[in-house]
Amino acid sequence: MEIKVFQRFGDLKVTGQFYEQGRLNFWPCECKCGNYRGVEEKRLLSGKITSCVACEVKRKIEKIAH
Ligand SMILES: [Zn+2]
Repeated sequence: MEIKVFQRFGDLKVTGQFYEQGRLNFWPCECKCGNYRGVEEKRLLSGKITSCVACEVKRKIEKIAH
């Protein structure tokens, strides 16, 4: 699967071309809440990362609360 600019992954939207960091490809993403997050390509494609860190933590807390 190929990642394209403006593609959506959950609450994240890819905002630009990938960049290399430690031999891994990272994609700059913007969360629906407006936060920025650079996500490794593999993790983005695996569906494990679907939001920024803040939203991820919030979701985890909500899960525990319910
Ligand atoms: Zn967010």
